[in-house]
Amino acid sequence: MGKIRVLSDETASQVAAGEVVERPASLVKELVENSLDAGAARVWIEYARGGSRLVSVRDDGCGMDREDALLCLERHATSKIRIGTDLERVRTMGFRGEALPSIASVSRFRLVTREPSADSGTEVVVAGGRVESVRETGVPPGTQVEVKELFYNLPARRKFLRGEETESAHIIHGLEGTALASPGVAFDCRRDGREVLSLPRAESLAVRIRDLFGAEHLARLIEMEPAQGEGFRLGGFLARPGQGRRDRLQQFVILNGRPIHCPAVQQPLREAYAEALERGLHPLCVLLIEMDAELVDCNVHPAKREVRLRQPDILRRAIFDAAKSVIARARQELVRPVLEAAPPPPAPVFHRENPQQNLTLEKVPPPAVEVPVSPAEPDPADRFRLLGLVGGDYLVLEGEEGMVLLDARAAGERILFETLMRQIDQGEVPSQQLLISEVIELPAREHAWVADHLDDLRAAGFLVDPFGGSTLKIEGLPTSAAGREPGPLLHEIVSAVRTSGKLSRGRGVREAIVRSVARLAAAEKFSGDEIRARRLVRELLRCELPYASPSGRPTMIQYSFAELDRKFGRGG
Ligand code: ADP
Ligand code: MG
Repeated sequence: MGKIRVLSDETASQVAAGEVVERPASLVKELVENSLDAGAARVWIEYARGGSRLVSVRDDGCGMDREDALLCLERHATSKIRIGTDLERVRTMGFRGEALPSIASVSRFRLVTREPSADSGTEVVVAGGRVESVRETGVPPGTQVEVKELFYNLPARRKFLRGEETESAHIIHGLEGTALASPGVAFDCRRDGREVLSLPRAESLAVRIRDLFGAEHLARLIEMEPAQGEGFRLGGFLARPGQGRRDRLQQFVILNGRPIHCPAVQQPLREAYAEALERGLHPLCVLLIEMDAELVDCNVHPAKREVRLRQPDILRRAIFDAAKSVIARARQELVRPVLEAAPPPPAPVFHRENPQQNLTLEKVPPPAVEVPVSPAEPDPADRFRLLGLVGGDYLVLEGEEGMVLLDARAAGERILFETLMRQIDQGEVPSQQLLISEVIELPAREHAWVADHLDDLRAAGFLVDPFGGSTLKIEGLPTSAAGREPGPLLHEIVSAVRTSGKLSRGRGVREAIVRSVARLAAAEKFSGDEIRARRLVRELLRCELPYASPSGRPTMIQYSFAELDRKFGRGG
């Protein structure tokens, strides 16, 4: 009846030995993975004092008979692989057959298990790796593993455990990943007797994300179109433009059903979001990757946390493309709610003499005359009343649903970026000849880069010629950057673009050049009057991606009236 076999020595050594139990979180992870491998529909987790006093994981899975309950505590006893070549096809979570014996050797350990068809179950008690008792017992079907006093027999390791809060945060973060990887399984988790997670079985990943992190979090994500390539499929949820965090705790990557750390994934996300996310933020994501087992080496890390991919480039490319298309789709969806808001509110009133007075909470009546606007193309700026300027160049607007602060500089950058890209795509070179051409010197690597990208630079308005050695002749600059010192300008742009990423080829290089031009050109303070301000709003709202500057800063911050009510405690 036993399902477990002891691996041959040869196979055992193919499965590199390693420390499985780093900290309580790794314990929880191993035990929960065993439960999932056992086909559990529900898993109950409990821990105390950051997991150092107690970790208990119970499931309603297939359970074990008496023989297996004892065998599973022997090193390299696993029911999941038999010979080394199986390693290449591993789909289950565990496969090393070393978690339970490792855990049992460094704790006071109790295993209670029963197969659903059996009349009774088995209890095995182990301390420091030595079996203390085995007995028959009446328990519900499934398995419970209880680990008390982790490292009690290794005081040096026990001292290395961090504070309870830290260990607890690791446990919860690990469970979040596991729960996202298995939406169809219910999870309950109690910490020091208090419920910290209660996740019913979810119909879909979206529901699981909502149950875990809330509807607001789900709304920050957009489901990507499933994509596939040779040997892999991609799916899941990626951040809408502007939705990121300073840490990577909300970047979940699930490979073949297992939450992993995969540095190969970070680069394409970073590059794809370069213009949709503030620098220093990491886009939120729950990325699902299904990959042929032959292309993944999941036996690199003893806790199976890191995996090595055999062909990371194809995957990187696919993730980059998927993220780009999510961003493109999100911007269409995002523009609509603003532009399709109810009838236009009254036109704005703007105190030209003293713009600081424009920030007023009173409703100001509309003026008698309005500039006529062609009915075919409604002016999107009409959706907002322009109330004034604060802090020099933040415009204050009131819309149907709330108040908007608009950063005139970031907006200017976005508008200029899209205008220049449009001109480039149409083959216009937005360039202005210098009266006297200038010869500059560049460091060797920058010079080489310029020589490789002459066409891109020229398309963007830099009329340059390599001029022997490390020198360069500049004959014209982009119109929007006219008046700047050609040498420093080019130097700045080349160094910004050179470091902007490898995945951006062709149009991507031009985008990077234009992004830099726009950033430098829009760096000055907004000094406009009402007419300029309205034009800025209109042009921004007509942009394809109005919510972020091309370097990823937000252009607008919105405060809905509901949010204001909440902040003032009006509630409802
Ligand atoms: P691995 O998961 O790598 O096989 P483990 O040491 O984690 O190694 O577990 C050893 C074996 O014990 C598993 O292969 C499985 O057969 C059995 N086992 C462990 N946990 C459970 C569980 N919760 N339910 C049923 N069987 C289990
Ligand atoms: Mg295991």
